[in-house]
Amino acid sequence: MSIGRFSKNNTTDCAEDERKGKQAGMPFDKNRAISRFGSTIDAMAIRPIIRMGHPTLRRPARPLGLEEIGNDATQQLLTDMRDTLRDAGGIGLAAPQIDAAVRLAIIEIPGGSSRYGNLERMPFTVFINPDIQVLNPARAGFWEGCLSVPGLRGFVERPQHVKVAFTNRCGKAEELELSGFQATVVQHELDHLDGKLFIDRLADSARLAFEDEYQRYLEQPSP
Ligand SMILES: [Zn+2]
Repeated sequence: MSIGRFSKNNTTDCAEDERKGKQAGMPFDKNRAISRFGSTIDAMAIRPIIRMGHPTLRRPARPLGLEEIGNDATQQLLTDMRDTLRDAGGIGLAAPQIDAAVRLAIIEIPGGSSRYGNLERMPFTVFINPDIQVLNPARAGFWEGCLSVPGLRGFVERPQHVKVAFTNRCGKAEELELSGFQATVVQHELDHLDGKLFIDRLADSARLAFEDEYQRYLEQPSP
């Protein structure tokens, strides 16, 4: 998911993340992690983000097996997704958006003021094989954007209190209760795993706009 105004320069906690990951038993090879994040060589792996019209965005993705989560290919995919998300200045990315049809999504929301008001920070979080439960069906709407639907914004109403059960990047089962904007973001990302885009969720097709027109005619000042 994209919201258009966050800075792209938020890579300083990479090494710290890796250290935390190792302490938590993340199946990461030490030398590889150091060469990836600790050297002066630019080892960023930014993958192309596919756009609406690409068939992978419309296919349900397959679950990842537990052994698969710890293997090199999946850990590399996760690293590439994080690099790609940060490079694009987005706040969420699902694996199908880089043409990897597996049930894996990441979210990272910098805290602070934005067009959505004052956002609560959400640290880099990996959702593998997620399962979502709506805790309260009351909906609220946001003008959503998507890195796979560049240049467009659409008003989508979604439940604002959900619980997500998922496997984390260390292969452990986790649960997270999310509300407000974070609930919207996780639903947007998990939709990608089922081949859905935010444009499928518009209650009113008149509330789909190009970015420039959105900013000129539709944007409400943040509270
Ligand atoms: Zn999206």
